Amino acid sequence: MATLELRRIAEQHEDEIAALARDLVRIDTTNTGRMPTGNETEAATLLRQRLLAEGIDAEVRGRVPERGNVFARLPGRSGKTALVLLSHTDVVPAGDASQWSHPPFAGVIEDGYLHGRGAADMKGTVAAQAMALILLRRLRVPLAHAVGFVCVADEEAGGAYGAGWVARDQPDRLRAEVCLNEGGGSFVHLDGREWCLLGVGEKARYEVRATFHGRGAHAARPWQGENAFYKAAAALARLQAYEPERDTRGPIFGPLGRVTGPVTPANVDAVIERLGRTSPRLADHLRQVSRMLVTPTLIAGGVKSNSVPDVCHLTCDVRALPHQGPAYVEAHARRLLEGADLSIEQTAVANTSAAPDDLVGMLTDVMRRVLDRPIDVVPSISGGFTDSRFVRELGARAYGFAPGHPDSDASHHRAHGPNESVALRDLVVQTAVYLEVARHLAGAG
Ligand SMILES: [Zn+2]
Repeated sequence: MATLELRRIAEQHEDEIAALARDLVRIDTTNTGRMPTGNETEAATLLRQRLLAEGIDAEVRGRVPERGNVFARLPGRSGKTALVLLSHTDVVPAGDASQWSHPPFAGVIEDGYLHGRGAADMKGTVAAQAMALILLRRLRVPLAHAVGFVCVADEEAGGAYGAGWVARDQPDRLRAEVCLNEGGGSFVHLDGREWCLLGVGEKARYEVRATFHGRGAHAARPWQGENAFYKAAAALARLQAYEPERDTRGPIFGPLGRVTGPVTPANVDAVIERLGRTSPRLADHLRQVSRMLVTPTLIAGGVKSNSVPDVCHLTCDVRALPHQGPAYVEAHARRLLEGADLSIEQTAVANTSAAPDDLVGMLTDVMRRVLDRPIDVVPSISGGFTDSRFVRELGARAYGFAPGHPDSDASHHRAHGPNESVALRDLVVQTAVYLEVARHLAGAG
């Protein structure tokens, strides 16, 4: 069966893909991070029923009954698993509903878009992955190796009930030659070239909590005290002026240098500025992956409006590159937040998977054939983190790869904001890509 045929088959199933994504959006799986929350079992059960109806082996399991994860599998002849498609059903809170032009859980489909919380992050992709499995089954594509489907709860709040639990309780569900997840597949343009970014690693995230101590006094005689806010203010000024060390060791800088000329820590900012005029998305990405970021995000202090505050708490969000370890983060935090007591918590470990040329070549081939244009797949790390870290910790390979259509305007995704939406043609492309990758990795002959 030719690739264009798979693309056409995915196109013929656009309504079914869209309806599944819409049905998932209509199930409110808001994850606040505080139990009880999520209620993912309702979405997991819907997926299980759809898969079972196709004769696909599927089950729902979880650390607690109301936060189910779905596991499904198309068996192959070898007993080996070639591909696991990984996704999550939980969503972040919708926030102020009056800021939405369609109600966040109505799942409205209009003019080729599905609107609602989770449409882009990532119930649309859940539907594309499930449909890829369903179509492989319906088309009776012969499989030498198994294809797995793992759709988890709790991605948006740390994964303790989702991928983190799966990695501990049933790690084999996540082990495959290749696991494909969110966190990659976006398109950037560079001098007429079209690149599709493959997520091969993720920055670490730390929370640095600084406590500045002062001495209380009556605000009528403030000189008798020591205002903790002024100490925090000095640290804030240092943070605002902070110029992180530039770093061009990431995997994207090799391919980039072949187009722009070699990119080094000394010239990366100039390259980013130049690209900002023609390739703003690429410039943004390069800025993320060329430095550690330290951003003050929470501040609290004071006890009374007429008292000199004796304490000020300042929290910083830190995003470190994969090779910038805890010691690097701590050294910089101590200097920037001098005078404070620090507590540093790593909330997500940096992680990477190797990006072998044959895999990158295969994905490039898949993209070119599905989209019929000269796209290059280029490995890079991402600035945020996903459940891929749990897979990589098991020693298995995971990649962020959920490409839509290159002509779609990704700004409509608005993941985590109001008016989130996804283009239905993006879901069609995703379905075709997953079908094609499955056939490459798991297909027999
Ligand atoms: Zn997500």
